[in-house]
Order: sequence, then C-alpha cells, then structure tokens
Amino acid sequence: MERTLTIIKPDAVKAGHIGDIIKIFETNGFRIVAARLVNLSKPEAEGFYAVHRGKPFFESLTGFMSSGPAIPMVLEGENAIARLREVMGATNPANAAAGTIRKLYAASIEANCIHGSDAPETAAFEISYFFPGVQLI
Ligand code: GDP
Repeated sequence: MERTLTIIKPDAVKAGHIGDIIKIFETNGFRIVAARLVNLSKPEAEGFYAVHRGKPFFESLTGFMSSGPAIPMVLEGENAIARLREVMGATNPANAAAGTIRKLYAASIEANCIHGSDAPETAAFEISYFFPGVQLI
C-alpha cells in the first residue's frame, strides 16, 4: 500500500468537476484517507510549488493555485503514486491519453484540474504540507 497527495485544482472546483474526479478515484480503487477544502494564499501556493521557483510559469502557476478553493486529498492504494499519475494524464491536456482526468476536464497546461505527487519523497513532503500532524486513518 502506498499513499499519494492529490489536489483537485481551482479550475476543476470552479467548473463543477469535484464529483466527476472523485468518482474516477473510486472507480480506480483509490481509498480516500484525508480531504480538506482550502483557499491557498499566494505564499502557501509558492511553498507547495517551491521546486518550480525560478521557472517562467512560477508566478502564473502560484497565482492560479491561489485563485479559489481547491481540495487536497490523500489517496491510498497499491502503487498509488504511479497509478494516480496514469489516471491524471499528461501535464498538457493536449497530450493526455483518452479517458484521463486531464483529457476529460482540463482546459490548459496550467489549469489542468489535478495535482498528483511524482515520487515517494515528494508524496511525503506534500502530505505533511496539507495534513501536518494529522493521524491519517
Ligand atoms: P505535473 O506533475 O504534471 O503537475 O507537472 P509539473 O510538476 O511539471 O508542473 C506543475 C504544474 O505547473 C502543472 O500541473 C501545471 O499546472 C503547471 N505547469 C507546468 N508546465 C507549465 C507551463 O509550461 N506553463 C504553465 N503556465 N504552467 C505549467
């Protein structure tokens, strides 16, 4: 069993795709271990995406991520990190495979509906970023 951090991003919340995306999590056998609704401040978005500081899209990305409510969740399942990345689809929805969340619902490379941790170390950092000190079920 492995845990990963996902975020239903502000574009997907605004467009009314919370339920659609959670349904895909459930259909694919992920167990929801924790969830919150957050409205990130710009500094909080910058802290989460610190690895991207200095990139040309950093300002725009952190502005977008703090533009409205978002839903960080911890998902659990076998090989959860890699499997969630598959279910999400490529970063740019134009390149995402059919049936993936980004192909179905994302509008652009930035407003791409969903985040998923990319490795065990980042999953650990990202889970503690949103659920510090929380005893996960
Ligand atoms: P991910 O792991 O698929 O989410 O992709 P990355 O870790 O490479 O990038 C983090 C997030 O930054 C992406 O999910 C997008 O929201 C955004 N992003 C990535 N590349 C670009 C880009 O070239 N332009 C813009 N505006 N945003 C980007």
